[in-house]
Amino acid sequence: MALKVRGLFGTIFVLSLLLSVAACRQTVTQEVVEGGEIFYPGCVVPDEILERDGIDSFFVCMEIPDSVFSFMKGRSYKEGCTVSRNDLRYLIVLHRNLEGQAVVGELVVNKKISADILEIMRELYEASYPIEQMRLVDYYEGNDEQSMAANNSSAFNWRTQTGSSAKISKHATGMAIDINPLYNPYYRFPYVNETVSPGGDLYMDRMWEFPFKIDEDEDCYRIFTEHGFKWGGSWNSLRDYQHFEK
Ligand SMILES: [Zn+2]
Repeated sequence: MALKVRGLFGTIFVLSLLLSVAACRQTVTQEVVEGGEIFYPGCVVPDEILERDGIDSFFVCMEIPDSVFSFMKGRSYKEGCTVSRNDLRYLIVLHRNLEGQAVVGELVVNKKISADILEIMRELYEASYPIEQMRLVDYYEGNDEQSMAANNSSAFNWRTQTGSSAKISKHATGMAIDINPLYNPYYRFPYVNETVSPGGDLYMDRMWEFPFKIDEDEDCYRIFTEHGFKWGGSWNSLRDYQHFEK
């Protein structure tokens, strides 16, 4: 009987592994090969593998690979972009989702903050800080509104500042990152009749508690500011709760 139960759990474990790997093959940017398994961004990594092999191979920084750069061109790397490919870095990271699962994430950031971001992401992961999704904004055709509405955390995107058609955003140089943007909106004072990103005012009341909320009492704020980043949630002329920049 005990043998049968172990066999059953073993079969379920192998099946769940195969299913998670298969599910992740649908949207490919870069992959991590660990212990003979292949994991793509968006993929859940079973804790058994992380306990066995550690997490180092899931926190890597590299020059922008050809496959990623061709995906970025015309999306986040729009025509007229003055930031060179050599100034940007592609990161693979792990983050925890709300269910506590380890998920492979990916980011493009300026090389000046790439070591910082890698360290910050590792600290957030070790603190089990929940991040719902961390995929390149290129999966949303470089459209920030769509990426935010999907609660996608991202960094580099050649674009103007939210609410401005002229000023270049810190995201355009890869020096800023947005975390859980759906729950941490952007708005200007007074916000009545002003554009609120990503739309709706459900999460603008910061007095009540809800998942993914960034404020000064939790790990996301603490870890980013310890690394010298500024938080958009403490600005005076506007509030950008999702935003950290250097
Ligand atoms: Zn931002």
